[in-house]
Amino acid sequence: MGEVVAKVSIEKVLEGIGVERIVKADPLKLESAVEAVRQVLDERGVRAVIFKSPCIALAKPKTCYQVNEKTCVSCRKCIRELGCPAIVACDGRISIEPSLCYGCGVCGEICKFGAIQEVDHE
Ligand code: SF4
Ligand code: SF4
Repeated sequence: MGEVVAKVSIEKVLEGIGVERIVKADPLKLESAVEAVRQVLDERGVRAVIFKSPCIALAKPKTCYQVNEKTCVSCRKCIRELGCPAIVACDGRISIEPSLCYGCGVCGEICKFGAIQEVDHE
């Protein structure tokens, strides 16, 4: 019970049903993930983008991210564009709840003010 006995390749399933154009990307590498979608956006026919990254329930990060209050301008871009449950707004201030952050780093890429920084887990 609960053992992984076989893995099904999503890529092979897609090939099996006739999808000819398959692009793979890591969703946590924001720029390359956006580029992968752009690649197939204007093409014709059935296309698929497979996003693959370590499962957050299994991958235990050594670091998490925090908001630097001195450089955060409370623009809320990180909240609007991500919807990560670890990022919270309270009384106009933005912070990251460490127990909910699994260290993917996407919020750090989103913030153009450099206000989100990687820190060691305590
Ligand atoms: S995107 Fe950066 S500057 Fe804007 S609210 Fe989030 S942490 Fe603050
Ligand atoms: S590093 Fe990832 S999990 Fe942590 S707050 Fe940022 S977006 Fe959320």
